[in-house]
Amino acid sequence: MDRVYNFSPGPSTLPLPVLEKLQAELLTYGTTGMSVMEMSHRGKDYLAIYDEAEATLRDLMHISDDYAVLFLHGGATLMFAGVPYNLMATGKADYIDSGNFAHGSAVEAAKYGDARIIASSRDDNYTYIPDWTGKLNADADYVHITTNNTIFGTHYTKLPEGPAPLVADMSSNILGEVYDVNKFGVIYAGAQKNIGISGLCVAIIRKDLFGRARKDCPKIMNWEKEAENGSMINTPNTFAIYVAGECMKWLKAQGGVEAIEKINQAKAAKLYDFIDNSGFYSNPAKKEDRSIMNVTFVTGNPDTDAAFVKFAAANGLASLKGHRLVGGMRASIYNAMPMEGVDKLIDVMKQFAMQNK
Ligand SMILES: *Cc1c(COP(=O)(O)O)cnc(C)c1O
Repeated sequence: MDRVYNFSPGPSTLPLPVLEKLQAELLTYGTTGMSVMEMSHRGKDYLAIYDEAEATLRDLMHISDDYAVLFLHGGATLMFAGVPYNLMATGKADYIDSGNFAHGSAVEAAKYGDARIIASSRDDNYTYIPDWTGKLNADADYVHITTNNTIFGTHYTKLPEGPAPLVADMSSNILGEVYDVNKFGVIYAGAQKNIGISGLCVAIIRKDLFGRARKDCPKIMNWEKEAENGSMINTPNTFAIYVAGECMKWLKAQGGVEAIEKINQAKAAKLYDFIDNSGFYSNPAKKEDRSIMNVTFVTGNPDTDAAFVKFAAANGLASLKGHRLVGGMRASIYNAMPMEGVDKLIDVMKQFAMQNK
């Protein structure tokens, strides 16, 4: 069976050269005579893989020594608790509610303190990024944002700038768009969208934020302790870190985040342009806030939407069904989706529109 173009929101498509390399190295990695899956996480062969993954991420995002890079468990979702556990020193934080994951992070944080939702677009089904102007609180331990809203297809085009450290769930656009890490206190991301495979959370933490953890913070979730232990308080997700490292090396060979961002913008612009001019499909997100990673579209008729998803699948385009909270379709076009995949999608959308107008 041939590989399809896979528009899944996560876990999502991986670069083919990376998959081929993993396949070639699966039984014996280098001269070790064993698979990466079988190696001790404390052995020198594995530590070299780990160190290279960290170094590549530092290189790609220009991360300074002021920041620790951690490879943690539990995806992004465990961080919804990890953030208040590590940062809610006075028990107050500001949350900007721009989507379902953003909302979930605030709900989780509310178990540990006063997680104030200072701006929200929930009343309009998260079709835009809410305005936080004048709403940032001076007494907040941190401000939490979700830079790209995976389900609704929106992203931030500017960042809140207040006195409190900025904490960002960057799960669905990390490494896909250029960010100045120095503007953030903490960046975290589940790996299965733009970094690698699931079960891994990459965290970038400004070291001066260590020392604020609640007393009841589980050791395994304490960032300072994880940093002291090279993310190895316990056995890390060794294979996922290895895959992340390979994907990041692939990205570096593409010219890094600066180069892939341009390609991502071009992919998204082409798709949005087609949708806007199709007279058949439409995109529910506010134009200025449109995501370049997750492109949502609807025909206006749920039965037609379902028929499209089937038609696309029959034409080698997988996982285009939208999230149940939005309906319709969603094309996730992360770094590993080539322009050819977007061209093929537009082609199939054209054919379907012609047959169903
Ligand atoms: C996918 C996603 C998550 C959840 O990630 P897990 O690794 O499944 O915990 C959280 N936030 C955002 C923005 C996401 O896209």
